[in-house]
Amino acid sequence: SWRKLRSGEKKIAIGPRSAIFSPTQDLGIIILDEEHDNSYKQIDPAPRYHAREVAIMRASMTDSVVIMGSATPSMQALEMTKKGKAVLLELTKRHESAKLPEVEILDLKQYTGAMKGELAVPMHLAIKEALDKKEQVILLYNRLGFANYLQCETCGHIPQSPECSVSLTYHKRKNQLICHYSGYSRKADTNCEKCGSEFLSEQGSGTQKIEEQLEELFPDARVLRFDRDSTSKKGAHEKILDSFGAGEADILVGTQLVAKGLDFPNVTVVGVTDADTELAFPSFQSSERMFQLLSQVAGRSGRGAKPGKVFIQTRQPDNEALKFAQKHDYNGFADSELDFRKALNYPPYSRLVKFVLKGKNESQVRVSAFKLKSVLERLVPDFDSLGPSPAAIAWMNQYYLWEVMVKLPTDRGGNFIERLLDKVMEVYEFESEISTNIVRININVEAIR
Ligand SMILES: [Zn+2]
Ligand SMILES: [Zn+2]
Repeated sequence: SWRKLRSGEKKIAIGPRSAIFSPTQDLGIIILDEEHDNSYKQIDPAPRYHAREVAIMRASMTDSVVIMGSATPSMQALEMTKKGKAVLLELTKRHESAKLPEVEILDLKQYTGAMKGELAVPMHLAIKEALDKKEQVILLYNRLGFANYLQCETCGHIPQSPECSVSLTYHKRKNQLICHYSGYSRKADTNCEKCGSEFLSEQGSGTQKIEEQLEELFPDARVLRFDRDSTSKKGAHEKILDSFGAGEADILVGTQLVAKGLDFPNVTVVGVTDADTELAFPSFQSSERMFQLLSQVAGRSGRGAKPGKVFIQTRQPDNEALKFAQKHDYNGFADSELDFRKALNYPPYSRLVKFVLKGKNESQVRVSAFKLKSVLERLVPDFDSLGPSPAAIAWMNQYYLWEVMVKLPTDRGGNFIERLLDKVMEVYEFESEISTNIVRININVEAIR
């Protein structure tokens, strides 16, 4: 295919993020659909590029145009339009003038005695009703195994890092709460830091057997599962969706994957079993991710002639991002999110550069991370650096991972960043007693997590 593109025989290249490197001749337009999607960023292995950045660079070199499409533009893209680096074109009519569905927020704290498995009673009833009418249901459940966290059962609060406003991760073995940005840690709270309640519960882990649960609750319904496990085989993805689209199943359950661009006219109920897991994700982007997820989810319901309804279960019914998602208010969300980013100097107001240190001996990795941090503090004292901290997934394939981050200004170009990072590594390698062959360091510019 690449040869045909190079010879000019083919004029359109379409593909995942790597298509941005295709040898298309006389380039005219680069289109990034679902621009906000994190999969445009390659995290590992190198090159750790963001396809949006590459697209903009390639367009400027070839004098072509970049078109980014999204129902929930990333804060980075939005900021470009505010700075006049991009033009915002808004579609004001919805596809086939379908109505936006009604979004109902269910406060799990109110339903502790009225749950059917993972489902609060109103959601359970709505699903039952839809099934009785031979309509279909999509259910999103938690992404598992990423991070555990504590949550107050009284007010829904999730402990936050005092410096970085990201959620703290709960480490049961050490009974500690840890910030994966700054490395801040403390003994696990016994009382809620917000309301003082002593009812804190551990969330985010556990094996929810939602599929079996649904089969018990709705014995006549045909349930299809859609997640990384069930779609890992080639073609399995399309097969599951085709089968659901053809009405061969009544309920589709899955992780956030099911929210992506699906269009099923017979789906009238969409449910999210626990929106808080997105908020608890240890990232400055957690609110944005939740807003995007819920907006996509809302777009899945009521695509056809029948009106749809969306149910979102949470313990933080007053959360701002959630409220904006309920009202389908992107602009409101973006304003409040940009204020938060600005106050803490997160992207798009800074470029987040992440150093990931990786080695087989934990204490060597830790010592190296502290060394790197001290080099950064001396070389670039004016730029905020965060960490060192064990990575959110701190141990992988027999390697320990630690991270150090630095927030660089956005008004300096790639050359400046390259020179600066070269200098940092040069000084680090000179001073560190541990070779970079033993503790490897990956540098990730425009780190998104
Ligand atoms: Zn509380
Ligand atoms: Zn922190």
